Amino acid sequence: MFLKYRTKAFILRHENRGESDQVFWVYSRDFGKIAVMAKGIRKLNSKLRGSTQVFYLSEIEFVQGRGRKTLVDAVRVEKFAGLRESFLKLRLAHRFVRIFCHLVKSPIAEEALWQRLSRFFSEIDDASFLPNKAQLFYYFSFWRLLTALGYRPELYRCVFCRRKIAAPETFWQSRDGGLICRNCSGRSAPRPRSVSAPAIKIIRFFLTHEWPMVRRLKAEPLVLREIKVISQNYFYHH
Ligand SMILES: [Zn+2]
Repeated sequence: MFLKYRTKAFILRHENRGESDQVFWVYSRDFGKIAVMAKGIRKLNSKLRGSTQVFYLSEIEFVQGRGRKTLVDAVRVEKFAGLRESFLKLRLAHRFVRIFCHLVKSPIAEEALWQRLSRFFSEIDDASFLPNKAQLFYYFSFWRLLTALGYRPELYRCVFCRRKIAAPETFWQSRDGGLICRNCSGRSAPRPRSVSAPAIKIIRFFLTHEWPMVRRLKAEPLVLREIKVISQNYFYHH
């Protein structure tokens, strides 16, 4: 006797298997990230195809077999049409989901992760989303995701001496978990990179405000580039 389960899920990616099957990786509300096999879904008459496109939010039903879940039904809840209209938005979503899939391995459902994905898709889908804020949005989502996963960086005190960080000279070391003061900069090897006050301010703002506030920030290209380097570096260490 196999058990049947129903849950809402974001379709994150899929891969072809055999002649007409596909395996889906989804983030589900009740089970976290799971892989589900869809038999015969690439056949023209498959009723599941219309509700399992990448980046859809769907209500899925699957059967738990021995070591494998098989999709038996799917109903589309939200297609995020606004996201699909823009190449830039799609590229951003692929980039974010790639990072998400890389970092989220456990099949345990986490409300914070579900909320992060929900907000990511609804905010990027919104018609008022400005292309010139795409970079800012991506890094905002990135830092919120890492925080939801328990990798919150230290942005207020030196990771070594615990003194409050006071500009102007501040350093960053991903491996040690965040900011380092000038006095302690010699204690970290390799030598930590120096980080500007505006970049710190923006990353702090990411973690204390939601997107409707964050999107009003004016970030200079140079500061965004700095945030990009710090983000890549932090990702690499976690
Ligand atoms: Zn220190």
